[in-house]
Amino acid sequence: MSTEAETWTTLKVLTWTVGYLTEKGVENARREAEWLLCEATGLDRIGLYLNFDKPLQDGELAAYRSMVARRGKREPLQHILGNQEFDGREFVVTKDVLIPRYDTETLLEEAVRQAPQARTVLDIGTGSGCIAISLAHRLPQAQITAVDLSSDALAIARLNAERNNAAVEFLLGSFFQPVTGRRFDLIVSNPPYITRADLDTLQPEVRDFEPRLALDGGVDGLDAYRALVSEAPGYLEPGGWLLFEIGAGQDKDLAGLLADAGFGAIVTVPDSAGIIRVVGGQWHAV
Ligand code: GLN
Repeated sequence: MSTEAETWTTLKVLTWTVGYLTEKGVENARREAEWLLCEATGLDRIGLYLNFDKPLQDGELAAYRSMVARRGKREPLQHILGNQEFDGREFVVTKDVLIPRYDTETLLEEAVRQAPQARTVLDIGTGSGCIAISLAHRLPQAQITAVDLSSDALAIARLNAERNNAAVEFLLGSFFQPVTGRRFDLIVSNPPYITRADLDTLQPEVRDFEPRLALDGGVDGLDAYRALVSEAPGYLEPGGWLLFEIGAGQDKDLAGLLADAGFGAIVTVPDSAGIIRVVGGQWHAV
Protein backbone atom coordinates (compact mmCIF):
# COMPACT_ATOMS: atom_id res chain seq x y z
CA MET A 1 0.00 0.00 0.00
CA SER A 2 1.62 3.30 -0.99
CA THR A 3 1.36 6.28 1.32
CA GLU A 4 0.81 8.83 -1.46
CA ALA A 5 -2.30 10.94 -1.33
CA GLU A 6 -4.67 8.49 -2.92
CA THR A 7 -8.17 7.67 -1.84
CA TRP A 8 -8.11 4.31 -0.15
CA THR A 9 -11.73 3.27 -0.14
CA THR A 10 -12.74 0.20 1.83
CA LEU A 11 -13.13 -1.79 -1.38
CA LYS A 12 -9.77 -0.71 -2.75
CA VAL A 13 -8.03 -1.59 0.51
CA LEU A 14 -9.76 -4.96 0.60
CA THR A 15 -8.85 -5.82 -2.97
CA TRP A 16 -5.22 -4.80 -2.44
CA THR A 17 -4.95 -6.87 0.74
CA VAL A 18 -6.35 -10.02 -0.83
CA GLY A 19 -3.55 -9.88 -3.42
CA TYR A 20 -0.89 -9.12 -0.82
CA LEU A 21 -1.86 -11.84 1.67
CA THR A 22 -2.36 -14.42 -1.09
CA GLU A 23 1.14 -13.70 -2.33
CA LYS A 24 2.42 -14.25 1.23
CA GLY A 25 0.82 -17.71 1.27
CA VAL A 26 -2.20 -16.92 3.45
CA GLU A 27 -5.22 -19.10 2.67
CA ASN A 28 -8.68 -17.50 2.81
CA ALA A 29 -7.09 -14.10 2.24
CA ARG A 30 -10.43 -12.43 1.48
CA ARG A 31 -12.01 -13.56 4.73
CA GLU A 32 -8.99 -12.63 6.78
CA ALA A 33 -8.73 -9.20 5.13
CA GLU A 34 -12.37 -8.62 6.05
CA TRP A 35 -11.71 -9.59 9.69
CA LEU A 36 -8.76 -7.21 9.90
CA LEU A 37 -10.70 -4.39 8.27
CA CYS A 38 -13.55 -4.92 10.73
CA GLU A 39 -11.04 -4.73 13.58
CA ALA A 40 -9.45 -1.51 12.24
CA THR A 41 -12.72 0.27 11.50
CA GLY A 42 -14.97 -1.06 14.25
CA LEU A 43 -17.50 -2.05 11.58
CA ASP A 44 -19.09 -5.48 11.27
CA ARG A 45 -18.99 -7.35 7.96
CA ILE A 46 -22.28 -5.90 6.73
CA GLY A 47 -21.01 -2.45 7.69
CA LEU A 48 -17.92 -3.01 5.55
CA TYR A 49 -20.00 -3.86 2.52
CA LEU A 50 -22.23 -0.82 3.06
CA ASN A 51 -19.13 1.40 3.26
CA PHE A 52 -17.22 0.04 0.26
CA ASP A 53 -17.07 3.44 -1.45
CA LYS A 54 -16.01 5.41 1.62
CA PRO A 55 -12.37 6.26 2.26
CA LEU A 56 -10.72 4.93 5.41
CA GLN A 57 -9.67 7.52 7.98
CA ASP A 58 -5.93 8.01 8.53
CA GLY A 59 -6.01 6.40 11.97
CA GLU A 60 -7.92 3.40 10.68
CA LEU A 61 -5.54 3.00 7.77
CA ALA A 62 -2.49 3.16 10.04
CA ALA A 63 -3.89 0.53 12.42
CA TYR A 64 -4.91 -1.65 9.50
CA ARG A 65 -1.51 -1.40 7.79
CA SER A 66 0.32 -2.62 10.84
CA MET A 67 -2.07 -5.56 11.26
CA VAL A 68 -1.73 -6.57 7.60
CA ALA A 69 2.07 -6.36 7.84
CA ARG A 70 1.99 -8.76 10.82
CA ARG A 71 -0.33 -11.15 9.02
CA GLY A 72 1.91 -10.97 5.95
CA LYS A 73 4.70 -12.35 8.17
CA ARG A 74 2.32 -15.24 8.90
CA GLU A 75 1.60 -14.27 12.50
CA PRO A 76 -1.72 -16.01 13.33
CA LEU A 77 -4.84 -13.91 12.87
CA GLN A 78 -5.83 -14.82 16.44
CA HIS A 79 -2.67 -13.24 17.84
CA ILE A 80 -3.45 -10.03 15.96
CA LEU A 81 -7.10 -9.95 16.99
CA GLY A 82 -6.24 -11.30 20.47
CA ASN A 83 -8.95 -13.94 20.75
CA GLN A 84 -10.47 -17.17 19.47
CA GLU A 85 -13.96 -18.60 19.85
CA PHE A 86 -14.23 -22.07 21.38
CA ASP A 87 -17.40 -23.95 22.34
CA GLY A 88 -19.42 -20.75 21.98
CA ARG A 89 -17.20 -18.61 24.20
CA GLU A 90 -14.43 -16.13 23.49
CA PHE A 91 -10.91 -16.89 24.72
CA VAL A 92 -8.01 -14.46 24.99
CA VAL A 93 -4.96 -15.88 23.21
CA THR A 94 -1.32 -14.82 23.16
CA LYS A 95 1.94 -16.41 22.03
CA ASP A 96 2.05 -18.18 25.43
CA VAL A 97 -0.90 -20.50 24.76
CA LEU A 98 -1.99 -22.86 22.02
CA ILE A 99 -4.82 -21.31 20.00
CA PRO A 100 -7.95 -23.37 20.80
CA ARG A 101 -8.90 -25.65 17.87
CA TYR A 102 -12.39 -26.60 16.79
CA ASP A 103 -11.36 -30.31 16.82
CA THR A 104 -10.88 -30.12 20.58
CA GLU A 105 -14.64 -29.79 21.06
CA THR A 106 -14.72 -33.56 20.29
CA LEU A 107 -12.94 -34.12 23.62
CA LEU A 108 -15.53 -32.02 25.46
CA GLU A 109 -18.41 -33.97 23.93
CA GLU A 110 -16.88 -37.32 24.88
CA ALA A 111 -16.07 -36.17 28.42
CA VAL A 112 -19.68 -35.17 28.98
CA ARG A 113 -20.91 -38.42 27.40
CA GLN A 114 -18.72 -40.72 29.52
CA ALA A 115 -18.69 -38.84 32.81
CA PRO A 116 -21.87 -36.74 33.06
CA GLN A 117 -21.94 -37.15 36.86
CA ALA A 118 -18.27 -36.34 37.47
CA ARG A 119 -17.74 -34.42 40.70
CA THR A 120 -14.02 -33.86 40.27
CA VAL A 121 -12.30 -33.11 36.95
CA LEU A 122 -8.63 -32.55 36.13
CA ASP A 123 -7.28 -30.94 32.92
CA ILE A 124 -3.55 -31.44 32.39
CA GLY A 125 -1.77 -28.87 30.20
CA THR A 126 -4.65 -26.42 30.21
CA GLY A 127 -2.99 -23.73 28.06
CA SER A 128 -5.63 -21.07 27.38
CA GLY A 129 -7.92 -22.94 29.79
CA CYS A 130 -10.37 -23.64 26.97
CA ILE A 131 -11.12 -27.26 27.97
CA ALA A 132 -11.35 -26.67 31.73
CA ILE A 133 -13.51 -23.56 31.35
CA SER A 134 -15.86 -25.21 28.84
CA LEU A 135 -16.20 -28.25 31.13
CA ALA A 136 -17.00 -25.96 34.07
CA HIS A 137 -20.05 -24.86 32.09
CA ARG A 138 -20.97 -28.28 30.72
CA LEU A 139 -20.54 -30.10 34.06
CA PRO A 140 -21.85 -27.50 36.51
CA GLN A 141 -21.87 -29.93 39.46
CA ALA A 142 -18.15 -30.66 39.08
CA GLN A 143 -15.17 -29.09 40.77
CA ILE A 144 -12.64 -28.39 38.00
CA THR A 145 -8.86 -28.33 38.47
CA ALA A 146 -6.43 -27.35 35.71
CA VAL A 147 -2.65 -27.71 35.65
CA ASP A 148 -0.01 -26.20 33.39
CA LEU A 149 3.78 -26.13 33.35
CA SER A 150 3.84 -22.52 32.11
CA SER A 151 3.03 -19.66 34.49
CA ASP A 152 2.51 -17.38 31.47
CA ALA A 153 -0.13 -19.76 30.14
CA LEU A 154 -1.81 -19.97 33.56
CA ALA A 155 -2.12 -16.18 33.69
CA ILE A 156 -4.05 -16.28 30.40
CA ALA A 157 -6.16 -19.23 31.57
CA ARG A 158 -7.08 -17.37 34.79
CA LEU A 159 -8.09 -14.32 32.77
CA ASN A 160 -10.21 -16.51 30.49
CA ALA A 161 -11.94 -18.17 33.46
CA GLU A 162 -12.77 -14.78 34.93
CA ARG A 163 -14.11 -13.42 31.63
CA ASN A 164 -16.19 -16.54 31.05
CA ASN A 165 -17.53 -16.83 34.61
CA ALA A 166 -16.00 -20.22 35.32
CA ALA A 167 -14.77 -21.33 38.74
CA VAL A 168 -11.62 -23.33 37.99
CA GLU A 169 -8.74 -24.12 40.34
CA PHE A 170 -5.51 -23.41 38.43
CA LEU A 171 -2.23 -24.98 39.60
CA LEU A 172 1.31 -24.56 38.32
CA GLY A 173 3.44 -27.65 37.79
CA SER A 174 4.35 -30.69 35.75
CA PHE A 175 1.73 -33.36 34.97
CA PHE A 176 0.26 -34.68 38.26
CA GLN A 177 2.81 -33.12 40.63
CA PRO A 178 0.51 -30.25 41.78
CA VAL A 179 -2.34 -32.66 42.65
CA THR A 180 -0.31 -35.26 44.55
CA GLY A 181 -2.53 -37.34 46.82
CA ARG A 182 -5.82 -36.36 45.12
CA ARG A 183 -8.16 -38.45 42.98
CA PHE A 184 -10.54 -37.44 40.16
CA ASP A 185 -13.61 -38.84 38.43
CA LEU A 186 -12.43 -37.52 35.07
CA ILE A 187 -8.99 -36.61 33.75
CA VAL A 188 -8.68 -34.93 30.34
CA SER A 189 -5.68 -33.72 28.40
CA ASN A 190 -4.76 -32.36 24.99
CA PRO A 191 -1.00 -32.74 25.42
CA PRO A 192 1.72 -31.90 22.88
CA TYR A 193 1.65 -34.65 20.24
CA ILE A 194 3.60 -33.50 17.19
CA THR A 195 6.62 -35.68 16.37
CA ARG A 196 10.05 -33.99 16.34
CA ALA A 197 10.39 -34.60 12.62
CA ASP A 198 7.01 -33.02 11.87
CA LEU A 199 7.63 -29.84 13.88
CA ASP A 200 9.56 -28.24 11.01
CA THR A 201 6.91 -29.12 8.45
CA LEU A 202 4.09 -27.28 10.23
CA GLN A 203 2.63 -24.17 8.63
CA PRO A 204 4.49 -20.98 9.63
CA GLU A 205 1.62 -19.73 11.80
CA VAL A 206 2.03 -22.76 14.05
CA ARG A 207 5.77 -23.46 13.68
CA ASP A 208 6.98 -19.90 14.24
CA PHE A 209 4.34 -18.46 16.58
CA GLU A 210 2.69 -21.11 18.76
CA PRO A 211 4.47 -22.36 21.89
CA ARG A 212 6.87 -25.29 21.31
CA LEU A 213 5.90 -26.57 24.75
CA ALA A 214 2.34 -27.05 23.51
CA LEU A 215 3.38 -28.91 20.36
CA ASP A 216 6.53 -31.00 20.87
CA GLY A 217 5.58 -34.59 21.69
CA GLY A 218 9.10 -35.99 21.46
CA VAL A 219 10.62 -38.31 18.84
CA ASP A 220 7.45 -40.34 18.23
CA GLY A 221 4.96 -37.72 19.50
CA LEU A 222 3.88 -39.93 22.40
CA ASP A 223 6.12 -38.75 25.28
CA ALA A 224 3.38 -36.92 27.18
CA TYR A 225 0.86 -39.76 26.71
CA ARG A 226 3.28 -42.38 28.07
CA ALA A 227 3.86 -40.32 31.22
CA LEU A 228 0.17 -39.51 31.69
CA VAL A 229 -1.11 -43.05 31.11
CA SER A 230 1.40 -44.59 33.50
CA GLU A 231 0.69 -42.12 36.32
CA ALA A 232 -3.06 -41.60 35.85
CA PRO A 233 -4.21 -44.74 37.75
CA GLY A 234 -2.81 -43.20 40.95
CA TYR A 235 -5.02 -40.13 40.45
CA LEU A 236 -8.30 -41.70 39.29
CA GLU A 237 -11.28 -42.71 41.40
CA PRO A 238 -12.47 -46.30 40.79
CA GLY A 239 -14.51 -46.17 37.56
CA GLY A 240 -12.97 -42.81 36.63
CA TRP A 241 -12.29 -41.83 33.02
CA LEU A 242 -9.06 -40.77 31.29
CA LEU A 243 -9.67 -39.06 27.93
CA PHE A 244 -7.14 -37.60 25.51
CA GLU A 245 -7.13 -35.62 22.33
CA ILE A 246 -4.66 -37.24 19.91
CA GLY A 247 -3.07 -36.46 16.55
CA ALA A 248 -4.07 -38.14 13.29
CA GLY A 249 -2.93 -41.77 13.23
CA GLN A 250 -2.07 -42.06 16.95
CA ASP A 251 -5.24 -43.96 17.91
CA LYS A 252 -3.80 -47.50 17.83
CA ASP A 253 -0.72 -46.52 19.84
CA LEU A 254 -2.88 -44.83 22.46
CA ALA A 255 -5.38 -47.64 22.70
CA GLY A 256 -2.41 -49.98 23.21
CA LEU A 257 -0.87 -47.82 25.94
CA LEU A 258 -4.20 -47.62 27.78
CA ALA A 259 -4.89 -51.37 27.53
CA ASP A 260 -1.37 -52.23 28.70
CA ALA A 261 -1.79 -49.96 31.73
CA GLY A 262 -4.99 -51.81 32.70
CA PHE A 263 -7.65 -49.40 31.42
CA GLY A 264 -10.92 -50.89 30.17
CA ALA A 265 -13.92 -49.77 28.08
CA ILE A 266 -11.52 -48.17 25.59
CA VAL A 267 -13.23 -45.62 23.34
CA THR A 268 -12.12 -43.96 20.10
CA VAL A 269 -14.05 -40.99 18.71
CA PRO A 270 -13.75 -39.35 15.27
CA ASP A 271 -13.80 -35.58 14.75
CA SER A 272 -16.01 -33.87 12.15
CA ALA A 273 -13.46 -34.79 9.44
CA GLY A 274 -13.66 -38.48 10.37
CA ILE A 275 -10.17 -38.60 11.95
CA ILE A 276 -9.96 -40.40 15.31
CA ARG A 277 -9.37 -37.42 17.57
CA VAL A 278 -10.19 -38.73 21.04
CA VAL A 279 -9.07 -41.92 22.79
CA GLY A 280 -9.76 -42.87 26.37
CA GLY A 281 -10.50 -45.56 28.87
CA GLN A 282 -12.03 -46.25 32.24
CA TRP A 283 -10.06 -47.13 35.34
CA HIS A 284 -11.65 -50.34 36.61
CA ALA A 285 -13.97 -50.14 39.55
CA VAL A 286 -12.67 -51.96 42.67
N1 GLN B 1 -5.59 -27.59 26.63
C1 GLN B 1 -5.27 -26.56 25.68
C2 GLN B 1 -6.05 -26.79 24.40
O1 GLN B 1 -6.57 -27.83 24.18
C3 GLN B 1 -3.78 -26.51 25.41
C4 GLN B 1 -3.26 -27.77 24.80
C5 GLN B 1 -1.77 -27.69 24.53
O2 GLN B 1 -1.14 -26.66 24.80
N2 GLN B 1 -1.20 -28.77 24.02
O3 GLN B 1 -6.12 -25.91 23.57
